Order: sequence, then C-alpha cells, then structure tokens
Amino acid sequence: MARLLFVGGLGRSGTTLVERLLGELPGVCALGEVVHLWQRDIRANERCGCGERFAACEFWTRVGEVAFGGWANVDVYRVLALQAAVERTRHIPRLASPRLPDDYRAQVREYAGYYTAVYRAAAEVTGASVLVDSSKHSALAHCLRWSTGLDLRVAHVVRDPRGVAHSWTKVVSRPEADGESEMTRYSPGRSAMLWNAHNAAFGLLARRGVPLLRVRYEQFVADPRAGLSSLASFAGLSLGESDLDFLSEAHADLSVGHSAAGNPMRFSVGRIPLRRDDGWLRGLPATDRRLVGAVCAPLLRAYGYPVMVSRGGTR
Ligand SMILES: [Zn+2]
Repeated sequence: MARLLFVGGLGRSGTTLVERLLGELPGVCALGEVVHLWQRDIRANERCGCGERFAACEFWTRVGEVAFGGWANVDVYRVLALQAAVERTRHIPRLASPRLPDDYRAQVREYAGYYTAVYRAAAEVTGASVLVDSSKHSALAHCLRWSTGLDLRVAHVVRDPRGVAHSWTKVVSRPEADGESEMTRYSPGRSAMLWNAHNAAFGLLARRGVPLLRVRYEQFVADPRAGLSSLASFAGLSLGESDLDFLSEAHADLSVGHSAAGNPMRFSVGRIPLRRDDGWLRGLPATDRRLVGAVCAPLLRAYGYPVMVSRGGTR
C-alpha cells in the first residue's frame, strides 16, 4: 500500500516550501502537484522541476512505464473528464458522505486510481516509503479518500489569509511555460472566500477519519526543523541525526527535484533563505485587511490568528 502525504491548503500558503523540504528527507519522494500532471505534463510537455521537459525527464519516463506501460497509454481525455465530473469543490459535501451512489463511487475510484498508480510507481522506481503530492486541492483529497490501496495522510498548511490575499494580488509568471503565461490572480474578497472553503473542507476530511496534521505557515517558517520533524513523524518516518543537516533556521539547501507542476519555487536549487513573508502587513490596503479579517473571522479564531491586525502588525 502506497503511503501518501498529501500537502493541502489554499495556494500561496507555503505548500511548495513544505513539499520541497519534505523532499529532502530520506525515504521521501516529492512529486509536485500531481493534479496538473495530466494536462500540463502528459499533454503540454511542460517542464519538470529538474528543468527537463516532462517527456525527456528520466524519472517521469520510468514512472509512466511502471504505472501504465508508458504515458501514451493514459487516456488523458478520460482523466480530465473524470476530473470535471467528480473533483469539484461543490461536490465536497457529497464526497464527504459515508456512502456514495454506486455509479458516482465508481467514477471517483477510477479517477483516484490514476493517482494511486502514479504514487505506487514512484515508490517502486525510487524505493521511497512516503510519496508527497502537493496538489493542495481539497476536492482531490476527498476523492483520494475513496481510493483502495492508499494510506492517505494530509498535511494541512494554513497561512494568515491576509498574507494569502496579498500574494494572490501579485503578478507571477510561470517559467515552465517559458514566460508565456502568468499565474492566476484573485481579489482579496475572492481569496478570502476560497480560504474559508478550502480550509473548512480539510476540517471535514479530518472529521471523516483521515489522519491530518495542521501546519501553520508562520510557525513552520519560524522553526522549520521542528516543523519538519513533526511532519516526518506524522508520515511514519524515523529520522537520523544528520537528516536535517540541510536545514537551519535561516536557510535550506535544496537539491534537484522532479516536481510535476506547481509554484515556480519548485525550480529553486541550492541555498534558499527561509523567512516569513510578512509583506502584506505593509502591502495589503487596510480596507482589504479588514474585509479579509471579517470574512475569515471564525476560522481565524479556530486556528489561533488575530481577527484584526493593525498596520505594522500585532504579531
Ligand atoms: Zn524531472
């Protein structure tokens, strides 16, 4: 049975950083955002985290051979049709129910089966005991709950929604598409609504019995060694003394990874600084700060964040 650590949360919450650090641990294979593998990699042949085009990456070529006898055997249209049919945020209440109608359950299992095949193949190719998928989408995590043959655990990464909102207003280009396109942008009001919906969805997953560890981005970055140690033990890994040597309070030394898709940070190699991104305290206008605080108030309290933050910050 493949053991999967699914890194979930709303985008711009630090999921890519968490995944990259996990990927440095022995026994872990970090795959990036597998949710985008079908369209961006198999069809569009975008770049792997190692810098190669997907079709030229040896790692992914071997995974495709083991999982499906080669990527050419994957009916991508079928996967995308299933994705459109079952992996919807509005389906989460249905996916979270104790039983599913037979035909719907069959679709969910078929869809989750494609992912499980990828995880199993990656485990076989690398010998890793833990696979990491940083797809983030709560609806996908709910689909994977129905997979047979998957030991699903969720690292639920939460960041102050005002920081998330600020990040979503920035222009970020997508280097894997050779600068041709930019990442999506959301207004602060929209990202606040999404923050509520996705974080609540992960709470629901935990109530359905899926093992879930909540990681607050701000705490994680303040003490990354402690954060990574607790994630490792949650994933069932026992670390040796030197396994965290790549990581200090101030920086991490990253090696090349084979992330299928995700935030441009997946291409970073070598020493990267680790510091909390608090740019929103100055960069997010006060009206937006108050709006996001009001929309997200119940979960802010539940996660231990202040509902109101004055300019300059109280934390
Ligand atoms: Zn690669």
